[in-house]
Formats: sequence, structure tokens, C-alpha cells
Amino acid sequence: MSSNKDVTIGVLGFQGDIEENVAATRQALDELKIDGKIQLVRYAEDVEKIDALILPGGESTVQSSLAAIQHSLPSLKKRISEGMPVLGTCAGMIMLSKRVYDRVIGETKQKTIGNLDIVIERNAFGRQNDSFETDLKMNMLGKGAFRGVFIRAPAVSEVGKDVEIIARHAGKIVAVKQKNIIGTSFHPELAGDARMHKQIIKMALDFRAKSNGK
Ligand code: GLN
Repeated sequence: MSSNKDVTIGVLGFQGDIEENVAATRQALDELKIDGKIQLVRYAEDVEKIDALILPGGESTVQSSLAAIQHSLPSLKKRISEGMPVLGTCAGMIMLSKRVYDRVIGETKQKTIGNLDIVIERNAFGRQNDSFETDLKMNMLGKGAFRGVFIRAPAVSEVGKDVEIIARHAGKIVAVKQKNIIGTSFHPELAGDARMHKQIIKMALDFRAKSNGK
């Protein structure tokens, strides 16, 4: 039987908050006392080596173009639809969503992985609020507030029937969960609080246990 030590958490390695997510994942593994691995994911074959994936914030149009060039979108889509846990933060949530609008230019038609049944509004908090921090109530992570770091953040404007809303701010939906998929408008890797990364690691362990039991 394989042990926790074999758990491998992927971080999409094209652009954006890659190092910050590697550091937060390392912190989460340490706090859980799990000696897992972290794998940067760029090519289709990397996607087969991981038990969960984190999609960093950054610039979603750049990330989706690079992913399309490396032909990794179909394999990401397939693994996620098979149940592999995934956490998409900010641009990463945009990468997961079915449809994307921009506040100014309308539907963007950018290529996305598309497993998360939501409509996204990019840059939803407007210019005056390009970046801000606020405490969020997230029952999924326990009682204490979670520090939401928002940087030119998107919001979720529509959710499909299987999508659970897990956080709101200023009347907007800022975090969602659809089975194995979590999306956040904010940057949990910059919160100095590894609870969200621990959550995805726990989901990765469950997914491994189920896949090994087949
Ligand atoms: N506004 C960016 C985008 O649309 C997302 C910003 C972020 O990830 N911090 O891709």
C-alpha cells in the first residue's frame, strides 16, 4: 500500500504566483506532518503524476495561451473530470470556469479548462478597488476568519446547480466548490494561513485512497 509520503501536489507552472503556491503547499504539508512532493505542471505528461492541482493567480489570458501551446488543456480537463482535486485561485479560477466575461470588453472567448460550472466576471471589483484585503467567513475552513487578498480579482456571476457557494464579499460570490473543484477570487497563498492548501491536500489524500482502492 502506498503511504501519505507519495502524495504529489501539482502547481501549474506557466505564469503568476507559482513560487508562493509552492511555499504555501510546503507549509501545509509540514503542518499536516505529511512528507509529500510538489510538482510543477507544464506538459500533458506532468498531469499524470499528480494527486491534486493548484492553479495560481496571475494573468489568465497568458496562462491559457501557454497551456494551449503546450497542449495541456485536454489532459487537465480529463483528470479533473475523473475527480482529481483542484484549487483555482483568482486567474486559476478563471482558467477552470465555463464562461468568462470582462467588465469592460464583454465575453473574452479565452480558452479555459472549463470544468467548473460558473460564469466569471474578470476584474469585477473595479479600478478603485484593484487590490484590497478583507476577512472572509468560510465555514468550510472552520471558525476563524480567512484573510482574503484580492488583486484585480474576478467574481462569480452565475453558478450551476452542483456548485456550492463557500464565500461572499460585498454581495459578490468570491469562492465556490463543485465536488472536487474549489475556486477562489482571492489569493490564499498570500494569506499567511495554510488552511485552504491543507484542504486541497486532504482532498488529494482521499482521492488517492479511492483510486488505489479500485
Ligand atoms: N485579472 C486577472 C485575470 O483576469 C486575475 C488577477 C489575479 O490572478 N490576481 O487573469
